[in-house]
Amino acid sequence: MKSIIDAHAHGGIQDRNPPQSFRDYAERARGGGIGSVVMFPPVMEIYDRHDPGFEDNFRWQERRRRANRYLLTAGDEDFPVIPYFFIWNDFAVDQLSDDHQGIKWHRHPGEPVYHYDAPECANAIEVIRERNLPVVLEEELKNTLRFIREIAPGVRVIIPHLGLLNGGYDALKRHGIWEMENIYADTALASASDIADYLNRYGHERLLFGSDFPFGDPEEELEKVLQMNLPEDVQEGLVGGNLRRMLSGNRPGV
Ligand SMILES: [Zn+2]
Repeated sequence: MKSIIDAHAHGGIQDRNPPQSFRDYAERARGGGIGSVVMFPPVMEIYDRHDPGFEDNFRWQERRRRANRYLLTAGDEDFPVIPYFFIWNDFAVDQLSDDHQGIKWHRHPGEPVYHYDAPECANAIEVIRERNLPVVLEEELKNTLRFIREIAPGVRVIIPHLGLLNGGYDALKRHGIWEMENIYADTALASASDIADYLNRYGHERLLFGSDFPFGDPEEELEKVLQMNLPEDVQEGLVGGNLRRMLSGNRPGV
């Protein structure tokens, strides 16, 4: 089997609560057969999630810049990091490097909102579209639907946790989201029964194994998937093949 890729982990050295540097990750995951990891910065390196009225300031802009930059050099040859750029309300796509392989877009209810109507947002979507970068989108249900249908139609979106924090797996099912061909999902902290239901209905090709380190344990999350005794091709797709194929659709920056 080709090396296993974890498609969902947080990595950073500014927010150390809990410890979540690349080194911390590698120590926890190296024994279990995982060979590389998609990482995006921790939320608390991007915006103040505890202040719903939070706007932005220079200090946080610098913190974000450092957070996104850290991941560009975090991995090593034996254990590569696939960095995703965590975008926030300044929509700073000028900081995107050719090495960024995806976008992280994240907000929970009660947290400061993305300015979806700002021209900078539309510009960012255009850049994302040009490079065909996948977007890991964790947002409340109504913004998830709006993003997929109106803000960024056709853009490849990965919904983490099989929708657990986007309104739930079933709500997205009712809205016909999972069958859309540009919508992917990851298994991080999702239940085995939702994973099985998804595979039955939508096939395996857009489902990615992820751990949500440091909130999920990489080895345990991998074990959860392996213990489902899936057909070999399905399992191989989930633990790396699907992600590799998805990222091969990325286009270099222009
Ligand atoms: Zn996460």
